[in-house]
Amino acid sequence: MPRLTAFFGGPRLYVKRDDLTGLAFGGNKTRKLEFLMADARAQGARTVLTTGAIQSNHCRQTAAAAARLGYECVLILAGEAPDRATGNVLLDRLFGAKIVWVEHSERDRALKRAYSDALAEGKQPYLVPYGGSSPIGAAGYALALQELLDQGLRPDWIVFASSSGGTQAGLVAGGRLLGYSGQILGISVDEAAPVLQARIADLAGQTIRLLGTPVDFQAEAMQVNADYIGAGYGVAADPEREALELFGSLEGLALDPVYTGRAAAGMIDLVRKGFFRKEEVVLFWHTGGGPALFADRYQDFLQDPLA
Ligand SMILES: *Cc1c(COP(=O)(O)O)cnc(C)c1O
Repeated sequence: MPRLTAFFGGPRLYVKRDDLTGLAFGGNKTRKLEFLMADARAQGARTVLTTGAIQSNHCRQTAAAAARLGYECVLILAGEAPDRATGNVLLDRLFGAKIVWVEHSERDRALKRAYSDALAEGKQPYLVPYGGSSPIGAAGYALALQELLDQGLRPDWIVFASSSGGTQAGLVAGGRLLGYSGQILGISVDEAAPVLQARIADLAGQTIRLLGTPVDFQAEAMQVNADYIGAGYGVAADPEREALELFGSLEGLALDPVYTGRAAAGMIDLVRKGFFRKEEVVLFWHTGGGPALFADRYQDFLQDPLA
């Protein structure tokens, strides 16, 4: 990102475009679903079920993957059915998913009920884990790191949005397998650092074991920065707005208000504080999320000028 690099006067900023992973407007869940859907197929699934927030990118990409493979898709979304389907919800519908709206606290129960209903109907249900973050899903990000290194860049830092932890766990597992010595820094979008670190260490351990190398990871060794959570999940404010405007106006890159906007805002703050050395290579891993830009719930935020 040469213009963004020049704007800050270093470090050397790069971007990995997982907003271009190719399935239904892209995003990081595609890399996880590549392996999760293979697992579903191996188990003879005919229905896939998963759950997420209203504007879940994971649910949208799961719905699209299911459509590609000819499976039914049931999405348990936490919240009230909006008057108009916009953003990811609109896409969920277009991809033919059946949406069940429930209160957040009812989510797991509703998922179990939908699972047993599908089972009773002989539809061979397959539960796609929350955020696609199981060892099978996270394995997609171990391979993603291989892909990055094969592209010839060995960044000193990889910075990205971290939430259910599968992306970070996969990168950490891949980093160990491939002898990558750079830093893998997740910017938490919603979780306190110790919680997320423990989850990532556990999942990275399971993932690397799945890939044939038993290694235990320590939670404290997982790099998570939770300083940019602000008012919580999906509540975007001035830092996200500035990140969207800088990436947009200097690089023609679209970020989203929930994940990449927050991670980029964190990275920008760290750049300003001199956290990175000027000559270091810092790679921003773009994890997708663009459809949320067109969701009703973020229009007020997006229309507001920068304060
Ligand atoms: C799900 C998601 C993330 C977080 O990835 P995890 O593997 O759940 O930590 C980041 N960015 C976007 C756009 C996402 O949809």
